[in-house]
Amino acid sequence: MTTRPLILVTNDDGINSEGIRALATALDSLGEVQVVAPDREQSATSHSITLDRPLRVTRREDGQISVEGTPTDCVLLATNSLLTRRPLLVVSGINHGPNLGDDVTYSGTVAAAMEGLLLGIPSMAISLSTTPGTHHFATAAAFARRIAAKVLEEGTPNASLLNINVPNLPEGEIAGVRITQLGKRLYVDSVIEKTDPRGRPYFWIGGSPSWETTKNTDHAAILDRFVSVTPIHLELTDFKAVVEMENWVL
Ligand code: MN
Repeated sequence: MTTRPLILVTNDDGINSEGIRALATALDSLGEVQVVAPDREQSATSHSITLDRPLRVTRREDGQISVEGTPTDCVLLATNSLLTRRPLLVVSGINHGPNLGDDVTYSGTVAAAMEGLLLGIPSMAISLSTTPGTHHFATAAAFARRIAAKVLEEGTPNASLLNINVPNLPEGEIAGVRITQLGKRLYVDSVIEKTDPRGRPYFWIGGSPSWETTKNTDHAAILDRFVSVTPIHLELTDFKAVVEMENWVL
């Protein structure tokens, strides 16, 4: 008898979110799915880990495990302690909202996949580009399953994680899948300054980002109704700069 591959599922919206439920259900036919996810919303926590307090975990009746920590905590705890064997795939999501371009550096969803990659496990992050109204998690779940099946078969190329963004549309209206690169965010009005009732200024980070829509970017793919798949690696060294800086006299 062959053992079914173990798939670790996590997210940053919390274990009770609609996206992670849709994801876990969709991947069930590909292997043994174990959900280990934050007990509450942890969006925009990036790649943070919890070092200043103990991490409590709860094993729920449905077999899922919730952690009082970040998405990265979840992947670390799962692979080092909670799971009985090594997962063959880490899938993070389905995030409520897109994780495109420069924004991946803030994303808890993508960070969980980064942690999986650092641990040497093929990993992917999946986000639904939600807009007000209906949320088509079923569409994102269908593509998560399709891409996960491919990754379980062949791994991810060149030690990369896959950052997947899905347009908020019924599956039949998706134009296809496009392999993309991360786009650039244009920072316009991203910090709002107002005055509180006591006359003191306050700031709120938010606003609506705009994006470079150069062809081949992830954002352009979403606008064109394509599922965007961007391979991301964690080789952060800028080798061109290394060559240039070898001439520096310091
Ligand atoms: Mn989130």
